[in-house]
Amino acid sequence: MGLLDGKNALVFGLANERSIAWGITQALHREGASIGISYAGEMLKRRVMPLAEKIGCTWVEECDVTKDENIDAVAKKAAEDFGQIDVLVHSIAFAGREELTGPFYNTTREGFKNAMDISVYSFVALARAFQPILRPGASLICMTYYGSVKVAPHYNVMGVAKAALEATTRYLAYDFGPHGVRVNAISAGPIRTLAAAGVGGFRDMYKHFADMSPMRENITIDDVGNAAIFLASDLSARITGDVLYVDSGFNIVGVQMGPKEGSDQ
Ligand code: NAD
Repeated sequence: MGLLDGKNALVFGLANERSIAWGITQALHREGASIGISYAGEMLKRRVMPLAEKIGCTWVEECDVTKDENIDAVAKKAAEDFGQIDVLVHSIAFAGREELTGPFYNTTREGFKNAMDISVYSFVALARAFQPILRPGASLICMTYYGSVKVAPHYNVMGVAKAALEATTRYLAYDFGPHGVRVNAISAGPIRTLAAAGVGGFRDMYKHFADMSPMRENITIDDVGNAAIFLASDLSARITGDVLYVDSGFNIVGVQMGPKEGSDQ
């Protein structure tokens, strides 16, 4: 028996086998959910299709979330093929590389708009488009990062976008609450993915994280997948509007000490 037997789950944001969306998709599959996968555009198709095949998923739809007509089309297709949806995962973000290197004040108007549109507004747009087919008890999940609440050098406009995404999570949770639909965010520690590669200095940050987090370990897409199962399943039935940290405890530390000083081993 899986925790998600009989449930229909849609995952947005699969790019390749390193994607957080892939960790979540595999976990959803393991727990018995029927799965639909959506990816951004034609260029990703050849990477996404073999992954879908691995879990026997035949519902694979292209959707560029900057286009309302794409979102409407994918929602219509989901209504036809699944009827109702129990789990919707938003694992999408974008900011231009030039916005993720120099000082934050260099963020351009266009870069700011793009980051907010793709990384934040798309969650609102998906929630609205799928609202008519969300089954009571459904769970919406998005992906955020600690750069929303504290400065993470070079994360820049994406930190601002993640702060907005976390606020969006709370507002959607408020709207959907009366319908029995929950909305939560997972705040993941750094993981080597395509999106992360665009953040200046990510490699150093990744290493620093393993040295400094209480658990002294980086996290994996499987860790995120398992947390997503909790939020997707009835185990979290009364949890909504929340941000669940999957970060080896990194966010609880106020004063960072070197690994030697901080450890008595
Ligand atoms: P990823 O590159 O595998 O995933 C990002 C996805 O966003 C890709 O599939 C990409 O195609 C999609 N996307 C971008 N523009 C799009 C558009 N216009 N329409 C539809 N999809 C679009 O990288 P990831 O690290 O797995 O990122 C997934 C989520 O996790 C993002 O929200 C990211 O900010 C978040 N996150 C990542 C980390 C990390 O360290 N990797 C940490 C915390 C949170």
